[in-house]
Amino acid sequence: MMKKIYANGTDEKAFLEQLAKRTGETDKRVSQIVTEIIETVRAGGDQAVQKYTKQFDGELPQYYEVPQEVIEDALNEADEDFVNALLDAMENIADFHNRQRENSFVNALPNGVLLGQRIRGLKRVGLYVPGGTAAYPSSVLMNAIPAKIAGVEEIIMVTPPRKDGTPNPDILVAAAICGVDRVFLSGGAQAIAALAYGTEQIPRVDKIVGPGNIYVATAKKLLYGVVDIDMVAGPSEILVLADDTADPAFVAADLMSQAEHDKLASSILVTTSEKLADAVLVELEKQVQSLSRKEIIEASLRDQGAILICDCVDCAVELANAIAPEHLEVHLQNPMEYLGRLDNAGSVFLGQYASEPLGDYFAGPNHVLPTSGTARFFSPLSVSSFLKRSGYVYYTKEALADAKDDIVLIAEREGLTAHANAIKVRFAKD
Ligand code: NAD
Repeated sequence: MMKKIYANGTDEKAFLEQLAKRTGETDKRVSQIVTEIIETVRAGGDQAVQKYTKQFDGELPQYYEVPQEVIEDALNEADEDFVNALLDAMENIADFHNRQRENSFVNALPNGVLLGQRIRGLKRVGLYVPGGTAAYPSSVLMNAIPAKIAGVEEIIMVTPPRKDGTPNPDILVAAAICGVDRVFLSGGAQAIAALAYGTEQIPRVDKIVGPGNIYVATAKKLLYGVVDIDMVAGPSEILVLADDTADPAFVAADLMSQAEHDKLASSILVTTSEKLADAVLVELEKQVQSLSRKEIIEASLRDQGAILICDCVDCAVELANAIAPEHLEVHLQNPMEYLGRLDNAGSVFLGQYASEPLGDYFAGPNHVLPTSGTARFFSPLSVSSFLKRSGYVYYTKEALADAKDDIVLIAEREGLTAHANAIKVRFAKD
């Protein structure tokens, strides 16, 4: 089901090149469609949004904006165990993200100068929640909780209606427990455009977060600059680093937990043990039989997955860093030993009981992670994703007098005489 490749410096090259090509390239045809949707919504507001909803999602939804009492009813009528599970997850996620808070600072110098940095949350954030089978309440938690902790004043959720025009109740439950302020039943590029520019009813936001299909991702990409965005996420990825102490059943199960997302998702095992590789292949065949997304898993493992066999653990670590996966599981004998060397991964799962779905739902670190090798330079969604910083300066006349010659010199060297003049004029009457 998965190809076995000997990582000897040559044989793995073609596979790594295929992986590297998976960056979020823009599809020209989709870009054209999305550009037209964006312009139409910008000019036509809610009427244009509704027109597209009707075109792409069927009849007009039950509500454009879901009334607060409908959101509260969804929470009150929800299965108690489900609500409690979400609340347990929320506690862990909030505890983790509370530690990411950043403080403003001010440095008061003896000469009366004040130099500071002021930090505050963005005023209003838009949260896209995909429709269809990918309507994940966990995604609401992972996006809304850090926003709330950052002090975002208002969270506006947009999500496509279900086929019968109603909102997905699980999404409303997650919205209610996270304190999402308003929910609109609108999806796709039209919802992203509405959030970016604002319409009569949908307020303009400062940042848009949340996953979505190619229309959503393209709209976010095209509107970046008009509005801030979280990231353009590619298909999901997992890389498992394992030696002969790993349990093949656990490794196989975790590889498939990512493969089930999407035929384009990639699951990679990097191991020093061929015996483990063969045992994992047997386990994959065995376990996949009972999984509901068998077809997607098999296609993903066959076309995007691989088992890379390395001579030594150091080579395996190097390969993992070169691939820079979204999720990295470490099934090595002493996993903690390697943490300091695993530099390029969105989230690292240490030891055989830190299974990736633990991170998707429950443990606390964010599950919105850099994909397509961008873990080389991007970080997971966090409280700081929702913060804004401004520096500030207070100077006395005496302090400026001490600095003025340096400033004037640099300004004049840059040919910016008005800059130099703005300093000199303050001492002209002396
Ligand atoms: P979606 O909400 O992303 O997209 C539905 C919308 O797409 C519709 O409302 C419609 O407006 C628009 N659309 C559909 N066909 C169109 C067309 N021909 N032209 C213009 N617009 C069109 O829901 P989905 O389609 O079910 O996709 C969900 C996506 O979210 C998947 O790609 C999934 O992989 C992704 N996802 C990713 C993550 C992650 O963490 N990376 C998590 C959850 C979901």
